[in-house]
Amino acid sequence: MSFAASVLTLYPEMFPGALGLSLAGRALEAGTWSLQAIQIRDFASDKHRTVDDTPAGGGAGMVMRADVLAKAIDHASPPGDPRPRLLMSPRGKPLTQARVRALADGPGAVILCGRFEGVDQRLIEARGLEEVSVGDFILSGGEPAALVLLDAVVRLLPGVMGNAVSGEEESFENGLLEHPHYTRPQEFEGRPIPDVLISGNHKKIAEWRRAEAIKLTRERRPDLLASDPPR
Ligand code: SAH
Repeated sequence: MSFAASVLTLYPEMFPGALGLSLAGRALEAGTWSLQAIQIRDFASDKHRTVDDTPAGGGAGMVMRADVLAKAIDHASPPGDPRPRLLMSPRGKPLTQARVRALADGPGAVILCGRFEGVDQRLIEARGLEEVSVGDFILSGGEPAALVLLDAVVRLLPGVMGNAVSGEEESFENGLLEHPHYTRPQEFEGRPIPDVLISGNHKKIAEWRRAEAIKLTRERRPDLLASDPPR
């Protein structure tokens, strides 16, 4: 069964975007996953196709209307749709490789992309949206965040990555950042490849890589070691 993504957006032209190329693009063509980009404006009820209004309580910016978004979601994801409904949001739980893997193991995702100041809180509650953040910074809209999430998910779908092993050795998969990489030439601007990597001793190489991974993680992301001791 293929992974079915439905994206609700004011800019459907942004999809598949970067995901139409390379691994994800080939998998899309092969039917390993599908992508439906839905124009939220099609669910507005006035002739100006209005999707937003001024914030209750005052203040800057505009808020996306619950009633219009509910119609769009109910169209994309009728009752009984087993797919999780996500809202890209800087207030959400930060996206992790574990969540990405769980999504890739599931039937797909319905993804709402916010714009302006965000969406009416009642919509989030009424449609049980899971808020997902791609990092502690503010984007101008949820579309790039949705592309990031889908890219991470699609590469894990069966058959998408040529070499399945490389997926499992990557940063975060074992609670560590990945070791450094080298390739030819043997010497670059006076810097040689570390001797151990050309020793041909696979046990030593594995030990070196793991030690480097632990060192790097301790230096850059001690939080990873604290929350999830290396396996
Ligand atoms: N006023 C909001 C930010 C709105 S940004 C706040 O301060 O929390 C507009 C839209 O961009 C959001 O509704 C969301 O869909 C998207 N977005 C912005 N930053 C994001 C992030 N870090 N992760 C996921 N989505 C984000």
